[in-house]
Amino acid sequence: MDREINGKIQLKVPEIKYTKLFINGRFLDSVSGKTFETNDPRTGDVIAAVAEGDKEDVDNAVKAAREAFDHGKWPRTSGHERGRILMKLADLIEQHAEDLSMLDAINAGKLLHMTQAFDIPTAAFMLRYFAGWADKVHGQTLKCSGEFQAYTLLEPVGVVGLIIPWNFPTVLFVAKIAPALAAGCSVVVKPAEQTPLSALYCAQLAKQAGVPDGVLNVVTGFGPTAGAAVASHMDVDAVSFTGSTEIGKVVMAAAASSNLKQVSLELGGKSPLVIFADADLDMAVQLAWQAVFFNKAIITHASVLLKAEVFSWRLESNGIDINGSLPSSQGEICLAGSRVYVQEEIYEEFKKKTVEMVKNWVLGDPFDPQVHQGPQVDKRQFEKVLRYIEAGKREGATLINGGKPVGEKGYFIEPTIFADVKEDMLIAKDEIFGPVMSIMKFKTIEEAIEKANNTRYGLAAGIVTKDLNIANMVSRSIRAGTIWINCYMATEADAPFGGYKMSGFGKDSGLQAIQKYLNVKSVITPLYGSPW
Ligand code: NAD
Repeated sequence: MDREINGKIQLKVPEIKYTKLFINGRFLDSVSGKTFETNDPRTGDVIAAVAEGDKEDVDNAVKAAREAFDHGKWPRTSGHERGRILMKLADLIEQHAEDLSMLDAINAGKLLHMTQAFDIPTAAFMLRYFAGWADKVHGQTLKCSGEFQAYTLLEPVGVVGLIIPWNFPTVLFVAKIAPALAAGCSVVVKPAEQTPLSALYCAQLAKQAGVPDGVLNVVTGFGPTAGAAVASHMDVDAVSFTGSTEIGKVVMAAAASSNLKQVSLELGGKSPLVIFADADLDMAVQLAWQAVFFNKAIITHASVLLKAEVFSWRLESNGIDINGSLPSSQGEICLAGSRVYVQEEIYEEFKKKTVEMVKNWVLGDPFDPQVHQGPQVDKRQFEKVLRYIEAGKREGATLINGGKPVGEKGYFIEPTIFADVKEDMLIAKDEIFGPVMSIMKFKTIEEAIEKANNTRYGLAAGIVTKDLNIANMVSRSIRAGTIWINCYMATEADAPFGGYKMSGFGKDSGLQAIQKYLNVKSVITPLYGSPW
């Protein structure tokens, strides 16, 4: 299907080829024969019917993964060979970038130029990063007491269940499978019910790359059925979950009450961005936007980082200036710096400049390169965000921009800014996961630290100041897994990523991500008569 937007570009919406469960290297209907509809958030229209996996399908997928792990070659082959196959998968993902970026855009309502410039290059980059570790993680030789010596072996954990949300369908799929496969595990992935398409597409690319049958399985379906079956399965050795804190608790309880499988949780956030009076105000305003709307810096960052000529030509040919434009998103990001604390000397000016930023903001079709913000992912999320906006008004915050849904169809919400927000308001406490910024005031450094930490979450935080000492001191004082100084949302494959407090535990990038899929075994032998 071709689409033309603003008379400028022709887009081919890919044919939806893969809608069945991927088990043991084959696409299969669910045992029940049931399917569910996946929708286009721009209109709410149905894109495709997808196989609805349930407990029996998870059993079949785990059986295939178990067989591949217990008797197959993947965990027994060299790290070098696993790395080579994952590198090939990265190449294939780049070769199919057009299709994948479109699938994420139609299925999640993400801006197409974001999926082209950030999501798909990041997925390929993550794969190459973990492919590189596959033959470089080793145990240690230990001297022990003198009568014994020991060495440690790092062994793949086994069958890993990977449960993911919808906001970065391809990136999160890859970020989960890459370290687990690099470590030698076999996996059963349960993608979000809202966005099953790109995971299935990537599964067949993995087969093409040479990932053996049974090593990578994808069971599409719903959380309380397929997801719960993964979390409570007696033959799954570890589960790595990304999603809400509420469901993270359910997954951990299921792991505990079944076979005590290892658990890692990447959960929600309500991250603070602390702006000190000495900051470059224009930069601070930009960063605050970036923090909620995940924009420009990421595009620039991704293009530079990846030297992604293939992606930057696509952006440029669509009329997008990768250094100057403000492509953005709809606030559906766990890292969102949705609590913006501004020191009182610059508070009024900051508010004024922030509202000015929205003047040329375009809400609309995520396939249109001139658009800054697309729809929320589905009706449930749309209604949840609107409920929070109403709560903000009811509790007495000052609405200084937006606050309303837009259009008759689809799930569009104006970029919404509240000022004079108080710590005990719902919009200051809860993760909204939408285009809503809450601005608050502080006087002293101590107050800023206290307020930044006044949350049950601890995923990330940002600090904007020219004072190195304040930056360093506050970085140490905020309890969060990532701190950005004079930037926001910059993510790197080698920088460990994960939460403190109720944002979870375990890391999803960096060396720590592959380590969580490796068990450490000590092997101890006697040393007879050695003076050493
Ligand atoms: P969610 O928790 O509702 O769902 C996440 C996944 O869990 C989905 O695949 C879902 O089907 C599954 N699930 C639901 N119930 C389940 C159950 N009982 N047992 C097992 N699995 C179950 O989250 P969501 O709405 O899809 O995503 C938004 C949330 O994800 C936000 O809170 C966001 O902060 C978080 N998130 C966190 C990160 C991170 O890295 N920390 C990244 C992206 C999103």
